[in-house]
Amino acid sequence: MEGAGERVREFVSRLEKDKPRRAVIRSIECSYLEANGYDRFEIRESEDEGGKSVLILPDIATCADCVQEIFDPSNRRFGYPFTNCTNCGPRFSIIESLPYDRGNTSMKAFAMCPECEREYHDPLDRRFHAQPNACPRCGPQVAFWDAEGEVLARRSEALLAAAGVIREGKILALKGVGGFQLMVDARSDAAVQRLRARKCRAAKPFAVMYPSLEMAREECELSEGEEGLLVSAAGPIVLLRGKIGHMGQMGISASVAPDNPWIGVMLPYSPLHYLLMTELGFPVVATSGNLSDEPICIDEREVLERLGGIADFYLVHDRAIVRHMDDSIARMVLGREQILRRARGYAPFPVHQTGELPTILAVGAHMKTSIALSVGTEVFISQHIGDLEAAEALAAFRRTAADLPRLYDAIPKAVGCDLHPDYLSTQYAAELAWPRYPVQHHYAHVLACMAENELAAPALGVAWDGTGMGTDGTVWGGEFLRVTGEGFERVAHLRQFRLPGGDTAAKEPRRAALGLLYAIFGEGLWDEGNGLSGGFQQGEVRLLRQMLERKINAPLTSSAGRLFDAVASLIGLRQRAGFEGQAAMDLEFAVDPEVTGVYQFGIGSGMPRVIDWEPMILEILEDVRRNPDIRGTAARFHNTLAEMMVRVAEIAGEEMVVLTGGCFQNRTLTELAVRRLKESGFEVYWHQRVPPNDGGIALGQIMGAVEEMRRERDVNDLRDISRDARAVAAGEIYLEGAQNLKPERGADSDNQ
Ligand code: ZN
Ligand code: ZN
Ligand code: FE
Repeated sequence: MEGAGERVREFVSRLEKDKPRRAVIRSIECSYLEANGYDRFEIRESEDEGGKSVLILPDIATCADCVQEIFDPSNRRFGYPFTNCTNCGPRFSIIESLPYDRGNTSMKAFAMCPECEREYHDPLDRRFHAQPNACPRCGPQVAFWDAEGEVLARRSEALLAAAGVIREGKILALKGVGGFQLMVDARSDAAVQRLRARKCRAAKPFAVMYPSLEMAREECELSEGEEGLLVSAAGPIVLLRGKIGHMGQMGISASVAPDNPWIGVMLPYSPLHYLLMTELGFPVVATSGNLSDEPICIDEREVLERLGGIADFYLVHDRAIVRHMDDSIARMVLGREQILRRARGYAPFPVHQTGELPTILAVGAHMKTSIALSVGTEVFISQHIGDLEAAEALAAFRRTAADLPRLYDAIPKAVGCDLHPDYLSTQYAAELAWPRYPVQHHYAHVLACMAENELAAPALGVAWDGTGMGTDGTVWGGEFLRVTGEGFERVAHLRQFRLPGGDTAAKEPRRAALGLLYAIFGEGLWDEGNGLSGGFQQGEVRLLRQMLERKINAPLTSSAGRLFDAVASLIGLRQRAGFEGQAAMDLEFAVDPEVTGVYQFGIGSGMPRVIDWEPMILEILEDVRRNPDIRGTAARFHNTLAEMMVRVAEIAGEEMVVLTGGCFQNRTLTELAVRRLKESGFEVYWHQRVPPNDGGIALGQIMGAVEEMRRERDVNDLRDISRDARAVAAGEIYLEGAQNLKPERGADSDNQ
């Protein structure tokens, strides 16, 4: 930029003022040089070297200007499903490598036509340097396939045909931004049921896409914050309450989210979705294109194989998806956003830290996994990967673990992982060449929440979830950890009980109930049938009894998640769960917010203190026997848990309390705990940008590994100092002392 001082200054000030809406300027560096005869402003091609610390943007929902263009018959992009501009469009899902130029994205397969080229080079155009810029003449196109992959229609006919089959109640697999979605008419019970049967997903709620904000507003309660989330650039699935009571009475089928007052709602976020949804004019189920637990399918070559038994028809396109990106899930808690599944629209935005971090790769846990990478002062968190049980998920996990460091040109110095040796993520970490730092599961949860809130120790962490391996080898899950800055101290935990059948118990709340009752009544349980419910068969009871008495396949756990399950079973809400956490959700949804009472509980005096739920369970059993009031019991149970947190926080005496772990996906529990802890004078923090579940754990593993590395360094420094001190004390000349140290150091390095 060359010119009179006045104009140069104006240019610099307008850089910030007039930048594109989505642009973020991290820093501007200016220096004045001799005039060189430049006569215009240029943006140069990025050079291939230099640090790749550039932020990669997530995929951005279609902006209002682009939406207007695709519905304007006089516009050259009328009806074009891949319209985008510098303010919107795909980013992370199409980037192959940095720097972010078209040649490094999957758009490199499409040469821009002269008109697109002109827009791309015109600084006054909305598409100036929009890397995925495209139009009907030069860009990607859609095609409509039958179940065998035969092309039935192309371009606008393909879109119309796709809308047609959804109208007929068929299952459409649509290649979207970050992968395939399965779509059916959300109003049709038969269509939704068929999708459930084919996807092997009996009960887990489906998300719904409404054609417009207005239509969503007609059927769902929308606070200002929720509306903001829905129309945000991230465009996540937002959990909303239905307006007209039961879902079946609304426009959509009750099978969309059985027994659930919340509906996951999203709006169209790509031009393809806008065109299809406007053509349809009614809400559709839009769920990840996969068999349950597998990662979302991204490639039309493999889609016939993977979704073959599920989809009736396909709407595909020829813009390659570089990495899978599920739809994110978010909700409002206490007036703030909380992300429950972090993928499209959020990943790979980093969590910023004040100090420089060593470069560390963290591989997460086992369920709902994501991966994290620290570079400088940023921790980049990958998109949601899923449960590592399925072979497909493991492959996606490995791809992502290799992808992140490559993208940011970072060579990790260490790898953070879980303490559990059987997690496939831990086993993957063991294959890597870098030093490995296992971080206890619940400690990682607490560190993640502290990191996202930029808190420094000390703090009390309440880490409640399903399961995680403890430092004593038992299954933890109802933990109170004091974080000291040099590790943690287990201040308190829920009383342990045995889970007959181990992992099976997560799917059968009645087993957790049995373990709980056995802990209270011991052998007496079998004689009187003390509250023994759950509809067990005679043979089953015999088997479970053996497990408990002989302590075979009945691990001890302090899990809060399993306590929820047990109570849901005892009050008759659910004996078998279609997915982990379903019983806890039933219990939450049953809460009568008017009921303020609490149950008794005990707190031991040892260290760690044991929080005894026995008095509470006895009262609950009494309630069930005398006057069954499920809504009241559910409320008192939640209230009691919040009181437990207050009591332990008072004993621990830390000012800051951090709430983390899968149990805090329970909005009622989170709100109660925050309110009661605040009333008692504590500063309370919870998750917002990083999920409270295991999707956030990789961030905590990074922080845990950093701490461990710092401690090792300190210990090494101390060792050196004490050796030197010994040398001086022994009256040796300092130099000789230093020489004496050498052989030992040499021996150390030989061992490495
Ligand atoms: Zn746009
Ligand atoms: Zn074009
Ligand atoms: Fe967890």
